[in-house]
Amino acid sequence: MANNEESRGLKSLLDWFANRRKSGSTNLERQEREIADGLWHKCSNCGVLTYTKDLRANQMVCVECGHHNRVDSDERIRQLIDANSWRPIDEHLRPTDPLQFRDRKAYSDRLREMQDKLNLVDAVKTGLGQIDGFPVALGVMDFRFMGGSMGSVVGEKLTRLIEEATQRRYPVVIVCTSGGARMQEGMLSLMQMAKISAALQRHREERLLYIPVLTNPTTGGVTASFAMLGDIILAEPKATIGFAGRRVIEQTLREKLPDDFQSAEDLLKHGFVDEIVPRTVLKKTLAQLIALHQPSAPTTTHNMVVWETRSLSSTVAE
Ligand SMILES: [Zn+2]
Repeated sequence: MANNEESRGLKSLLDWFANRRKSGSTNLERQEREIADGLWHKCSNCGVLTYTKDLRANQMVCVECGHHNRVDSDERIRQLIDANSWRPIDEHLRPTDPLQFRDRKAYSDRLREMQDKLNLVDAVKTGLGQIDGFPVALGVMDFRFMGGSMGSVVGEKLTRLIEEATQRRYPVVIVCTSGGARMQEGMLSLMQMAKISAALQRHREERLLYIPVLTNPTTGGVTASFAMLGDIILAEPKATIGFAGRRVIEQTLREKLPDDFQSAEDLLKHGFVDEIVPRTVLKKTLAQLIALHQPSAPTTTHNMVVWETRSLSSTVAE
C-alpha cells in the first residue's frame, strides 16, 4: 500500500516535471516566435521585453533603460518630418560596380541582394520636407544597407541635396550612421568626402544652417567629412562616434583606452559635439534651432526649453 502511494507520488512528481518542462519550452518558444514576428522587442541593453507598438510610440527608445535602438531610414523620416510633407529626391540614382569588385561575393551581387531584401536603392534617403512647419532638406543614412557605407550614390545624393538646399535657402539636416567609406568602390568612395564637403562650404557661404545628427555608430569617412562639418553638431545618447576603430587605435598606441572613448558623451566633453539630444525630443530641438536661425528670429534664446543651462560652477573644480 505504502509502496503504491510512493510510486503514485513519484509518478505525479515526474508528470509535473514533464509538464513543467513542456509548458516552459512552449512559453519560451512562443516568446521567441513573438520576438521573431516583431510583436515583441527585447532590449539589447537591459533585456526587458517591450511591445514593439509601445517601443515605436516611444521612437524606439527603451522605456526601461533609455537605450536608443537603431531605426531605419523610413522610421527616422516618420519621426522627424511632418505628416504628408516628405518629398524624396533623386530616387532614381543607383549604384554601379565600376571596379568589378569581388571579395567573397561580387559587389554587384551584394548590391542586388541588399536592394531586394531591404527595398532600398543604397544607404541614404534624401528629400525635402517640413519639421514643425519649417522647410528643410533632410538626408537619412541607413545602417542596414552595407553598414551605411558611403559609396558614389550616398555621396552624389547628399551633394545634390545640399545643392538643392543652397538654391532654395533651406537648412540641411543629415542623420548620420555609417561604418565609413565603401571599400568596394575604392577611391571613388573616398572622393565623396571632398565632394560633399565642397557642397557644404557653398551652403555655408550663403550663411545657411547645417545640422548633422550623429547616431550610433558614426565612423570612418563620414566622421572625417560631413558629420563633423556642422554649424551645430548633435548626437544621440551613447552613440559611438569615431574615425578608426577602438581596437586599431589600441594596437597602434599599445595603450588601453578609457571605457567611454568614442562615445557621444566623451566627444561632448572634448568639444567635438555641441549637444546630446535624446531622440524623443530631437524633432522639437531641430525645430527650435531652425526657428532661431530664421532671418526674423529673435536674438534671445529664452524660448529654448530643451537646452539645459549648465551651471558654471559644475565646470570648476572645488
Ligand atoms: Zn532597455
